[in-house]
Amino acid sequence: MNRKYRRTIIAGNWKMNKTPAEAKALIEELKTKVGKQKWCDVVLCVPFVDIPAAIRATRDAKISIAAQNMHFEKSGAFTGEVSADMLKELGVKYVVIGHSERREYFGETDKTVNLKVKAALENGLRPIVCVGESLDQRESDITAEHITMQVKLALADITADQLRKIVFAYEPIWAIGTGKTATAEQASEVCGLIRAVIRAKYGARVARSVTIQYGGSMNPKNAAELLAQLDIDGGLIGGASLKADDFAAIINAANQ
Ligand code: PEP
Repeated sequence: MNRKYRRTIIAGNWKMNKTPAEAKALIEELKTKVGKQKWCDVVLCVPFVDIPAAIRATRDAKISIAAQNMHFEKSGAFTGEVSADMLKELGVKYVVIGHSERREYFGETDKTVNLKVKAALENGLRPIVCVGESLDQRESDITAEHITMQVKLALADITADQLRKIVFAYEPIWAIGTGKTATAEQASEVCGLIRAVIRAKYGARVARSVTIQYGGSMNPKNAAELLAQLDIDGGLIGGASLKADDFAAIINAANQ
């Protein structure tokens, strides 16, 4: 974290978990466990159908709601899809774009990631753009090349002003849902690389203002060490965000 230049953001990615009633119950429980949020913003990335219940349940809290995906077109014959302005109208503030599960199971590409980032920004939503290497890529020593390419393609045609609204999440695929966390050194190295790629294109002032999260089996035990790294400005948290105690512990660690 570097509180002088940027906000720390702790985001819970619920994936395909929790009905609307369960969402309300989890948020009510979470609210009782989170202390004063002085230093960090909290975001819950909930399934589409949970959004209205989640918005209602967070009205009296400093918690923003995110969608986990969206389509880049405004409207049209895209059965099963949801557009940015639909999310905006519900009160959604953030949208996760390019999560590795979307890339792997739903054909998300660097091109669609870029189109979605642009559509989100045009509609006043803050994109949380996920990038990360596979185990094969890490073992083949091409992590830096892969991450650089993903970041550059996500940011095609994005202006410096727009960039200030974007959050990046470095999520090594081998660490997601596996219980295997990147070491603080590995995570910090890649988050630093993402910032360097941004710096090369937009300059130092813009680069230092961008929030770059780490995601991949973050939990109450490893959160403090990861968040202590200067280039890690928060977390995108899957499994541990489904338990109020664990997620609150991570939020409280970010507020220390
Ligand atoms: C994620 O869903 O983005 C994630 C990091 O999951 P987990 O924390 O369960 O590894």
